[in-house]
Amino acid sequence: MQYHALWQSVLGEIELTVSHATFTTWFKNTELIDQNDAGVVISVPNIFAKKQFEVKFNDQVKGVLSKNGINPKKISYTINTSGKHTRLNRETTTDMTPVTSAADLLFTKDKTKAMPVSVGNLNPRYTFDSFIVGSSNDLAYTASQAVAAKPGVKYNPLYLYGGVGLGKTHLMQAVGNEIVKKNPKMKVLYISSETFVSEFLDHIRFKKKGFSEKYRNVDVLIVDDMQFIAGKEKTQEEFFHTFNHLHQNNKQIIISSDKPPKSIPTLTERLRSRFEMGMTIDIQMPDFETRCAILNIKASQSGVTLKQDTVEYLATNIKTNIRELEGALNQLLAYAEMRGIEPDISTAEGLLGNIRHSRPQHLSSKQIIDRTAKHFQLELSEICGSKRDRYIVVPRQIAMYLLRSELHLSFPKIANELGRKDHTTAIHSIEKIEKAIKLDFLIREQVASIREKLYA
Ligand code: ADP
Ligand code: MG
Repeated sequence: MQYHALWQSVLGEIELTVSHATFTTWFKNTELIDQNDAGVVISVPNIFAKKQFEVKFNDQVKGVLSKNGINPKKISYTINTSGKHTRLNRETTTDMTPVTSAADLLFTKDKTKAMPVSVGNLNPRYTFDSFIVGSSNDLAYTASQAVAAKPGVKYNPLYLYGGVGLGKTHLMQAVGNEIVKKNPKMKVLYISSETFVSEFLDHIRFKKKGFSEKYRNVDVLIVDDMQFIAGKEKTQEEFFHTFNHLHQNNKQIIISSDKPPKSIPTLTERLRSRFEMGMTIDIQMPDFETRCAILNIKASQSGVTLKQDTVEYLATNIKTNIRELEGALNQLLAYAEMRGIEPDISTAEGLLGNIRHSRPQHLSSKQIIDRTAKHFQLELSEICGSKRDRYIVVPRQIAMYLLRSELHLSFPKIANELGRKDHTTAIHSIEKIEKAIKLDFLIREQVASIREKLYA
């Protein structure tokens, strides 16, 4: 933890220069673990990440380290293998916890945390320019532009809501960035409601000064993920006053949440009515065409032109949210680049787990189970045993999945291989991993990595 603060600041800078997906895919679960005369050591979650860092990001990391006064002779990257059990048993992981197991990956919900700071906390990459408009988000986009053109005048507050990964943060920050760009004197502040809550608590507990002023002295207040204020009455009361103060002074307020105001449980009535005063708009999952457009643009931002069938394949298979879509695309590009192959539909299929690999004759179920156990640093007796701890269950499910996808074993046989009596366990496990592979690029990565070793 010694170097945690330093690494946080390095990450903060890097986050501003790479795409959100790149950042979450590669940088999020890294840590600086050692620094001495010989150089620095950075821990990364897996072999894919190691490769990326060595090949792609090394110069960047070096540059930012140097800005922070560190000029290592050498930067080495090591795969994090420590502390699996304690970590896996935890309910939540923090942003900086290295993720080494599928259990983490499956059960870590996306938490939108306040990201490292720039002007008003805004991430300069979130612009209108890079936001793709379709019928799922055009209203939100238009209203956001109107607000950016005349803050505090038209829609106040602007309240955007919708599921995770659909572009709320991007759009709100685009408004902030646009306002600051046009008028650098405008004071724009972006925070997550969690930040507001915790600063408010500090203010109460430790009598920290400057809390009210901080939020009342702005021209534009952007509060992301308002749902986290639910149930916190004192904080709501404080926010109510902040809101009124800003609103009366014609200052713009922008709010996002996963639900409309009336559906946030335990939101005080008066705050709810405030939120409904301006414009409330939802953002939905983009339709197929928009998903294709997003993929095309994001690919070309990475300097790659994808074939139409590949784009359509991804757009068809990833219907959850744009963050996942971006994640899958990034992974496809990275995977293809690493192997020097085309990021085409068959590579995409392979990554999404639908492909039948041309498998060597000798691959046995024992090898698959061994390999999976080893990947997650489990004993064979654990993976085939009776324990139901999550850190064992998910690897076990992955082993079942691989027995099916690589060897086409029957469900009863698969159950039997893993010491299960009931073949429905195998069916459920395999379905679960099939789904997870589509939804979660980190799971995809784990499975791909085991596969890679199996066929190495
Ligand atoms: P939310 O805040 O709704 O959870 P984000 O704004 O964080 O979602 O979006 C997730 C990712 O998807 C970000 O990288 C964002 O840039 C990207 N994204 C979302 N919507 C769009 C869009 N319409 N065009 C381009 N990128 C988008
Ligand atoms: Mg968000």
